[in-house]
Formats: sequence, structure tokens, C-alpha cells
Amino acid sequence: MQSIQKPIVIVGAGFAGMTVALNLKNLNPSLPILVVDSASNFIFKPLMYEVLSKEIRIWEATPKFANIFSDAGITFLKNCLTKISFKENILEFSEDLKLSYQYLVICTGSLPNSFLIKGVEENCYFFNDFYDLNKLKSFLKESQKTSLHKKLFIVGGGPSGIELACKIKDIFIDQFEINLIEKSNEILNRNKIFNREQAERALEKRKINVFLNSTVKEVSETKIIISSEDEITSLDKDIVIWTAGVKPNLSYLQTDAITKKYGRILVNNQLQIENHNNCFAIGDISIIAGMEDLPITAQVAMQEGNHLAKNLALLIQGKDPLPFEFQDNGEMISLGIGEASISALGITLSGKLAFEARRLIYASKLPHITESLKSASSWIFQKKSIFRKFFKKDNLN
Ligand SMILES: Cc1cc2nc3c(=O)[nH]c(=O)nc-3n(C[C@H](O)[C@H](O)[C@H](O)COP(=O)(O)OP(=O)(O)OC[C@H]3O[C@@H](n4cnc5c(N)ncnc54)[C@H](O)[C@@H]3O)c2cc1C
Repeated sequence: MQSIQKPIVIVGAGFAGMTVALNLKNLNPSLPILVVDSASNFIFKPLMYEVLSKEIRIWEATPKFANIFSDAGITFLKNCLTKISFKENILEFSEDLKLSYQYLVICTGSLPNSFLIKGVEENCYFFNDFYDLNKLKSFLKESQKTSLHKKLFIVGGGPSGIELACKIKDIFIDQFEINLIEKSNEILNRNKIFNREQAERALEKRKINVFLNSTVKEVSETKIIISSEDEITSLDKDIVIWTAGVKPNLSYLQTDAITKKYGRILVNNQLQIENHNNCFAIGDISIIAGMEDLPITAQVAMQEGNHLAKNLALLIQGKDPLPFEFQDNGEMISLGIGEASISALGITLSGKLAFEARRLIYASKLPHITESLKSASSWIFQKKSIFRKFFKKDNLN
């Protein structure tokens, strides 16, 4: 066994970073692991819709990193990565902090992508983190004080757009006239057929208007401009929620520092960054050579994290790392309060039964994570508070 002098530094403690850190610690408890994240809390993003609908509370889906990592015996530092010097193996953080590493794992996730469309950054709401969620919640709540049938547009017919449209309709009933804008000729065009069909039914049942083959050209303070079959339409809007795509969160990377593909860091099938064998990129920020079609999901991020933990343990023992293989465990989509659709491992389910099964499946997807995340299953099984044991009374808000 080789010993290592400097720490394994993991930057970003979302689904990918959290999984690699906790699994690596399990495999080799003596390794020096340092996890750095610019935030104080983990965000369980797939549960953000349930927070919006008050099916769970915000603190239940956002456990504190300090609690999770101290429990696992891993050092956690709250700071923001600003630069990587690959040649010198040095990381620079805000507040003039510098760190050197023996192995580096970067997994800093995604940001909403406005595709530089005029007015999107300034005039749209987003749904990517809890700042976005709180902002949206305040707007929706405030709207209840005024007239009904406000014009709400959701741009993007992917899972986020569909899940949001159904939840908002179920929560606010007639408060909003909901319009879903999708640029291709069908919703959920990268998802399983069964889920697509269930989603179409759910949208129809809720009288949500779906505009296919429609592209947003501009969003102003009061209007949304849409191009559809060469016709440009300008429509009044009260709110536009932008869920049309994400881009990797890589502001700390010099443009020519490493090879990218489709804007994401290109890694080999051992998850290593080209020409930097001690550096790894996983989760939403990276794309694996030869596996470019993998979806940008927590499922992929966690499988990569799990695999990388094994590879790092092998490398430190002087052994060769193994190629990553993705196992498609299927997909689940919530379709309003108390309903969902599942297409997984040969099973398809919809409606209330699927909603209950979705909870069980979430639990089964968290087998290798420490007790902190396993306690999510307490909510899944019993509707109890997630991560309760990590929240002392004075931490609750
Ligand atoms: C609303 C919503 C619902 C979703 N639902 C599902 C679902 O049902 N199923 C599914 O599989 N996927 C879902 N996804 C996608 C899934 O959440 C992402 O694919 C997953 O979070 C990616 O994991 P990650 O570790 O790459 O990034 P993240 O989980 O986003 O973690 C990135 C971490 O990096 C930190 N960070 C960023 N920049 C820096 C920096 N410069 N310095 C230090 N730290 C930094 C952030 O604070 C964050 O903690 C959903 C996403 C959203 C937004």
C-alpha cells in the first residue's frame, strides 16, 4: 500500500461529491479527505417540488454539510473554488486561501442555461436551487392576493418543466393559466415512453396548455415572444419560469486549461481528466468519452461517485483503475400532489401507487450513503422528517 502525503480534495459536495467522499471513507478510513463546498447545506434537488407543495419542509431536504461530514469523520471546509493550477496541483479559493492536493475531484454541478436569449436572465424565474425556490414561492404566494388566471409560462418540456407545471396547478388551482413551451415536437423527448404518455395525460387532465415546436425569442418585463412555425407571437405574461436547460458550473476554469466537449469537462472512462491523471471530474460538469449520451442526473452523478471511490482506493494501492459502466435504473417523475410515474427495471407504474413506490425507490437508491442520507428513507417510508437527527433544535428555521 502506498501512503499519500497530501489530501484527496473533493470540491463540490452535491450528489457526486457526497457519494465519492462517503464511499471512499468507508473503503479506506485512514485516507485524508477534505471536502470543500461554497454552500453550507446539501440540496436534495429531486425533492424541491415536494418543498414547493409543502409535502416536506425546506430544512428536511437541506441537511448541513458540517453535520453529515463530521459524523463520517471527514473534514469539511466552506469555501468557493476560484482557480485550479493543474501543473502545480494547487487550488485557489476565495479569501486568499490556497490548498495543494495529491488527488483532486471536481464536481461543482450545473447552472441554468439561458442560451443568451434576450431578457431571460433578467426577467425569468429559475428552479435550480433553494434560492430560486424561495424566490418563486414568494411570487406565487403574493399572486394569491390578486386576480385569478394569471399568465404563467414554463419554458422547457423536460422533467423539471412538467413536474413544476403539475405541482403548481395542484397547489394553486385556478390562480394561474399555465402554458408550457417546448421547442421540439414532444415533451420529455429524452425520457421513457411510458413516463411521457403519463405526463401528457397529467397535463391534459390539469388543462395545462402545451405549445410544441415553439422557441422563445425574448422575455421582457411584461411579454414573452415566441416563434412557432415561422410565426412570431408576443404574449402578455405575469411570470416565466425557465427550465429549458443547464450548463456546467465551471467559472473557476481557465478557458484553455483542459479539453471540453459540449462545454463540459471531457474525462476518460476511468473518470480522469485528460493529461491530468490525478484529477477527476464527475457529475453534471463532465462528459465521458464514448458515453456522451448519459443523462445529466443525480443517478449518473451518484454512480460516478461510487465508481470513483473504488478507483481512488485502487490507485492508492498502486493498482489500475477500472472503466466506468452506467447501469440504467430507470426514471421517476412526480406528476402533481400525490401522483407520479415510474419506468424502472422493466416495471411501469403510475398514479398514487407510483407516488408511494417513488418513495420506496428513493430509499433503495441510497444504500451506500451513511446514516445521514439513509435517514431520507424515514420520510420515504413514514413521511417523517428527513435528516432529523442532524438538526438540533437551534438549527431549525
Ligand atoms: C429541480 C431539480 C430536480 C431534479 N430531479 C432529479 C431527479 O428526480 N432525478 C435525478 O436523477 N436527477 C434530478 N435532478 C438533477 C440532479 O439534481 C443533478 O444531476 C445532480 O444534482 C448533479 O449532481 P452534482 O454532484 O454534479 O451537482 P450538485 O448536486 O448540483 O452539487 C454541486 C455542488 O457544488 C457546489 N459548488 C458549486 N460551485 C462551487 C465552487 N466554485 N466551489 C465550491 N463548491 C461549489 C455547490 O454548492 C453544490 O453543493 C434534478 C435537478 C433539479 C434542479
